[in-house]
Amino acid sequence: MNIATPIAHGCCDHRFEPEHLHPIVSKLFMPSGVDGVYGRTGAYESVIEALAALISRHRPESAEVFRFAPVMPRASLEKQGYLQSFPNLIGAVSTLMGTDREISKSAAKHEAGGDWTEDLKPSDLVLAPAACYPIYPIAAERGVVPDQGYIFDVAADCFRHEPSRHVDRFQTFRMREYVRIGTPAQIQAFREPWIARAQGIADVIGLTYTVDVANDPFFGRVGAMMANQQREDALKFELLVPVRSAESPTACMSFNYHKEHFGEVWGLHNAAGDVLHTGCVAFGMDRLAVALFVTHGVTISDWPASVRAALNL
Ligand code: AMP
Ligand code: ZN
Repeated sequence: MNIATPIAHGCCDHRFEPEHLHPIVSKLFMPSGVDGVYGRTGAYESVIEALAALISRHRPESAEVFRFAPVMPRASLEKQGYLQSFPNLIGAVSTLMGTDREISKSAAKHEAGGDWTEDLKPSDLVLAPAACYPIYPIAAERGVVPDQGYIFDVAADCFRHEPSRHVDRFQTFRMREYVRIGTPAQIQAFREPWIARAQGIADVIGLTYTVDVANDPFFGRVGAMMANQQREDALKFELLVPVRSAESPTACMSFNYHKEHFGEVWGLHNAAGDVLHTGCVAFGMDRLAVALFVTHGVTISDWPASVRAALNL
């Protein structure tokens, strides 16, 4: 009997993905051997760069630009309550510490067939789960926030421990954000137009989308209640693109109002002593790139001329 072997695309098994996603994996991503982590081709990266430039052309005039490392202080994550909200998503940096002798001993365990990782110790770094987290302590460090508040343009390589074979769910992915710090009215006046502006961006790059109220995947039973409350208060919206299917579309951008959460944690306040609110518009760069390739095909030169023009591709 001849048993058909599945066609290996030289990477993880993605037979369970809908057929239309197979070329994305085989032509644009290189396997790393770990789910949700890929090498990316030059063509894919050219789209990431083009998207970044398009988003930069929409940068609010007064925005200050910062680019962050893929790691951030563990103490910051602890302080802002991430352990309560998303402990399952954390990735922490651990290292071999001690004298040269102790480190050699740990490393040698591997050669001897043992487990060198049992000697790892947590360092003072975690992998950044969102691009905006490092900006709040930076803003707070400056002291009283001016009346006009702040607008920042930030980006980072982010990590979330959500291993998945789905082509639109990465463990490590690029996030770009515009972040607003100010009064509740200033945050509203920032977020509302951005929901419209972001749809304009999706329009010029030819994406089909819906915008819907959403919630963060808060952990556990208490988390479920927090998620309900977040929806009820309409604190999060997402721009969803039918990447895998129309029935379960993929969040490619999000529009978040954190209320006083970060203001309280970091002591962000104005001259009157009011605790300030924050909000952010987040662009999932890798999801947007995947959405573009799924929508227009894996060959960029075949994309509609208007889309290529919008992206200068
Ligand atoms: P969030 O803070 O969850 O709203 O994330 C901001 C944006 O990052 C989302 O709108 C997504 O586009 C993107 N994103 C979040 N999680 C992932 C993931 N696992 N893989 C790829 N992109 C993601
Ligand atoms: Zn954010």
